[in-house]
Amino acid sequence: MRIVRFSQARSSQVEPQYGVLVGELDEFGQPEAESRIVALAGDPLYVGVKLLEQEHRLEDVRLLAPVLPRSKVVGIGRNYAKHAAELGNEVPEEPLFFLKPNTTVIGPGDPILYPPQSEEVHYEGELAVVISRICRDVPVEKATDVIHGYTLANDVTARDLQRKDGRFTRAKGFDSFCPLGPWIETDLDPQDFADGRAIQTHLNGELVQDGSTSDLIFDIPTLVHHVSSVMTLLPGDVILTGTPEGVGPLHVGDEVEVSVAGLGSLTNKVAPR
Ligand code: MG
Repeated sequence: MRIVRFSQARSSQVEPQYGVLVGELDEFGQPEAESRIVALAGDPLYVGVKLLEQEHRLEDVRLLAPVLPRSKVVGIGRNYAKHAAELGNEVPEEPLFFLKPNTTVIGPGDPILYPPQSEEVHYEGELAVVISRICRDVPVEKATDVIHGYTLANDVTARDLQRKDGRFTRAKGFDSFCPLGPWIETDLDPQDFADGRAIQTHLNGELVQDGSTSDLIFDIPTLVHHVSSVMTLLPGDVILTGTPEGVGPLHVGDEVEVSVAGLGSLTNKVAPR
């Protein structure tokens, strides 16, 4: 099932709603033209999937970030060996994690705002895990019980500030530095990613990151276990699983697209803040 959050494109009066995207994806991972959205009563994270007798054509709605993290976005650093190497880092012995404030989250098509404090803002295409319920100390073998689904993320990073500060908070914490979407796929499990799914980033149409989720150093259950052994996870919290090699700079006016096979693609443009 593909869970979306949307607003009605022609009416700013109506509150955003959740829905289920119904239809096939084309060869580029985009929903086919006849796709429709069946609206849901409330947020499925809290009330389950309750279909309403209300449908919209995809072209009549604007897709929003499919989840608003209740408390946090947990980023995982250096979880692909070739990416660790390209920035001159060793692969960590344990998962290396950091927080992005939930105010970094934007949706598909929303602008990434280039902050004046940085001259080197990078894209990082990533697979994101959405947590379904309150949990802590989750054993590896129980991780799938607390996963709502999977979506795409761009862990936008001010690389110069990351080097300068020696920590990640400012570099990864600017408003708009966590595009999420376009929907949450609930029918996959960690093995689907361990088996290898293409994870790619295109910058202005050019392929700049081309990895496989089978190259994750710490797999998804291991990440859920480690993070939840430190901090309680809440419904709607998001774990970003790390980026493959090929990170690089963004500039105002650029269009960046993150895709994972089967999860569609997430596109955002860069605008001045
Ligand atoms: Mg990252």
